[in-house]
Amino acid sequence: MFSRSTLCLKTSASSIGRLQLRYFSHLPMTVPIKLPNGLEYEQPTGLFINNKFVPSKQNKTFEVVNPSTEEEICHIYEGREDDVEEAVQAADRAFSNGSWNGIDPINRGKALYRLAELIEQDKDVIASIETLDNGKAISSSRGDVELVINYLKSSAGFADKIDGRMVDTGRTHFSYTKRQPLGVCGQIIPWNFPLLMWAWKIAPALVTGNTVVLKTAESTPLSALYVSKYIPQAGIPPGVINIVSGFGKIVGEAITNHPKIKKVAFTGSTATGRHIYQSAAAGLKKVTLELGGKSPNIVFADAELKKAVQNIILGIYYNSGEVCCAGSRVYVEESIYDKFIEEFKAASESIKVGDPFDESTFQGAQTSQMQLNKILKYVDIGKSEGATLITGGERLGSKGYFIKPTVFGDVKEDMRIVKEEIFGPVVTVTKFKSTDEVINMANDSEYGLAAGIHTSNINTALKVADRVNAGTVWINTYNDFHHAVPFGGFNASGLGREMSVDALQNYLQVKAVRAKLDE
Ligand code: ADP
Repeated sequence: MFSRSTLCLKTSASSIGRLQLRYFSHLPMTVPIKLPNGLEYEQPTGLFINNKFVPSKQNKTFEVVNPSTEEEICHIYEGREDDVEEAVQAADRAFSNGSWNGIDPINRGKALYRLAELIEQDKDVIASIETLDNGKAISSSRGDVELVINYLKSSAGFADKIDGRMVDTGRTHFSYTKRQPLGVCGQIIPWNFPLLMWAWKIAPALVTGNTVVLKTAESTPLSALYVSKYIPQAGIPPGVINIVSGFGKIVGEAITNHPKIKKVAFTGSTATGRHIYQSAAAGLKKVTLELGGKSPNIVFADAELKKAVQNIILGIYYNSGEVCCAGSRVYVEESIYDKFIEEFKAASESIKVGDPFDESTFQGAQTSQMQLNKILKYVDIGKSEGATLITGGERLGSKGYFIKPTVFGDVKEDMRIVKEEIFGPVVTVTKFKSTDEVINMANDSEYGLAAGIHTSNINTALKVADRVNAGTVWINTYNDFHHAVPFGGFNASGLGREMSVDALQNYLQVKAVRAKLDE
């Protein structure tokens, strides 16, 4: 696909299984990619620093794999500590020189809005890149890109609405407060919603006047790099957004530990989030974390069964189950349990799994070999724990990381498949007798990201919504995101909220000014 001159070849035991690391003397700064749906585009390969694509300082690169075919898409440059240093310096300069936080805030809003418009004009290519890189169904990618556009546009509107207070302390003084940006923010994002997580991170940081050094996930770096080409065009000054592609243990650690980074925003696993929280504590950095989940999805006997089944399907198989808030623990009221299982099994078996570029596919590929292996390992654990495999439980085909939608019944609440996050299309179904019993089961988890309630009784819905420990509760719907509604977790599911006005406070600090007036 491009001319390469390999100086030496290194294979790393990377975190996603089979990535190839190489040194190139001159990997081109863009490579032409032909998408399976006929679209073509130029993929930037460099790091994005100071509004320019640049090679990594050590000229290392890594392979990006198409999870639907297991074939190489391209190589891109891999950042290291010295690249993070350069990106942080660029972001620090952009913060200090006032080119972003010193301007009339309406102009920050306009630039962010323009970025959204440029993305909108190119949304077919961008959605296709996401499907190529992540393996998700093209319909899901289109949904993600719509959310990205809406969120950027909505955030743009907050730019000129950040205010403080005038505090009356008598005639001798003039006292007021102002909310100011933090400075350089480090942002580390995962691979399940690559561009959406980019948007959830950069929008609140930028609109409040901060600058950013962002690391994409090693398995899905392409979309964030591609849209970076629009950053200068949108009028965002050099150094405001910097992207360093690379690995968690190198680039992620360097971001978390850098003394000039004032805040770390992370989305990913609870284990990595805990580690980042501890590392960031040493530098007293502000931290927001959006972590794992094992979310309960509760079906009461009075729910409209067909709709409830569809919502449970959306709750667990959407985005191939690679969703932190997936409704992976289903609880069904005893009197409808058998009927529910019959319909849910049939619906699970009728899901179209396969080529994510096929318009009728609902469930695409898992993102990596490592993820595929992890999910299949949990299927074995479930069987060995004595749960009944109702359907699925195996790989689909031998090429591409596809898994059949998988349902376990006859589970006990202390089984690992009920307790631990699997992050794939695997769901457990448990019977319940009373509301108190199901709330106790729903809340018996270290997590608290989301919950679903399916009932035709508004009293049941609102009372259960109040008692369930979750940052988001969906009633008669699931995985139903809106840019104006905050998202984030209770307990081990995280700290802070993303989207909506709630996200802004993560990126602002209060300054109190008190002036003594002449007598
Ligand atoms: P997973 O194990 O499913 O890949 P992670 O939470 O480890 O999930 O990954 C989410 C993001 O965190 C990725 O961008 C990854 O590179 C990054 N990451 C992984 N380990 C670290 C670390 N020690 N420090 C900072 N970032 C990390």
